[in-house]
Amino acid sequence: MAKDRFGRNIHYLRISLTDHCNLRCVYCMPEDMTFRPNAELMQDEEILTLTRLFATLGFDKIRLTGGEPTIRKNVVDIVRGISATEGIRSVSMTTNGLLLSRLAQPLSDAGLERVNISIDTLDPEKFKRLTRWGKVNEVLEGIEAAEEAGLTPVKLNAVVVTGYNESDVVPLAGLTAKHAWQVRFIEMMPFAGATEFQLTQMVTAAQIREQIEATYGPLEIVNGGKLDGEARLFRLQNGLGDIGFISSVTSPFCSSCTRARLTSDGVLRLCLLRENEIDLLTPLRAGANLEELRALILDAVWDKPWGHGLQEGAIPLNRVMSEIGG
Ligand code: SAM
Ligand code: SF4
Repeated sequence: MAKDRFGRNIHYLRISLTDHCNLRCVYCMPEDMTFRPNAELMQDEEILTLTRLFATLGFDKIRLTGGEPTIRKNVVDIVRGISATEGIRSVSMTTNGLLLSRLAQPLSDAGLERVNISIDTLDPEKFKRLTRWGKVNEVLEGIEAAEEAGLTPVKLNAVVVTGYNESDVVPLAGLTAKHAWQVRFIEMMPFAGATEFQLTQMVTAAQIREQIEATYGPLEIVNGGKLDGEARLFRLQNGLGDIGFISSVTSPFCSSCTRARLTSDGVLRLCLLRENEIDLLTPLRAGANLEELRALILDAVWDKPWGHGLQEGAIPLNRVMSEIGG
């Protein structure tokens, strides 16, 4: 079991399959984003080798992310390989959903359990503006395909941005009245490149909740207020689904964090919002043996930062969000 010096068991690995994306969400990356050449990304066999290694250290939960994970060539085979890895108990994915109408069933057949699909508005024009060219209908079709393929419970992620989609909070939350989905509102976090935009246009979880309650009345607490992963869950009165708030900025959940992240270029990052990283791909390619790599991982996990330093103005500047994966 990999433990950090604060006694947290770190057993949840988020693997970014690529930094490339088929959208350019305004809060995530610039329109003229430059992506890494494929040779710099972990190759399929390298992803599986590192997954096996992490599994031997007690990592049992994997989430695939990106960039956009579904545009990775061989994504279905990669999912199949990861889910067949001894010790891995669950494999999920965070995706923009655009390709799910084609991929949901094959991914499910390959062992994917669940998906989180990002959708910040139901309005086609606003969706286009937020993603710079996306078509919201394709995401809605993707959500339907995910449900049909049994990738459930479907969780929907929304980032709320002042001047773009504040008024979409209510219709998004309203989806949970009739669907057993979990609609999660994520506070926008600052990363390199767009920090001014991210800091000034951020809408807090408290503001979002206020808007929802102004329309639907008081929300009911789910799970006695216990966190579900990083989300605090609520429900509309008589709602079928849940509403989650991920208040990473205003009320961080660092004390219960069990995660590490492997970027698409094979670098282990111990906190989304801290720059500390350990390169695993270079030593793997240089012929390091599994014991050496294991020692690198255990040392890095031991030194996992306690939490982020946004309140003190410590903003991670070495990567944008799409290069880490969320
Ligand atoms: N492309 C996939 C997607 O959009 O779901 C996976 C990668 S994306 C980086 C993962 C999640 O991070 C998405 O839900 C996205 O909305 C969220 N995200 C991106 N930039 C963010 C930011 N600056 N602050 C908070 N969440 C952000
Ligand atoms: Fe792409 Fe996801 Fe970032 Fe949007 S949030 S640009 S879909 S990686």
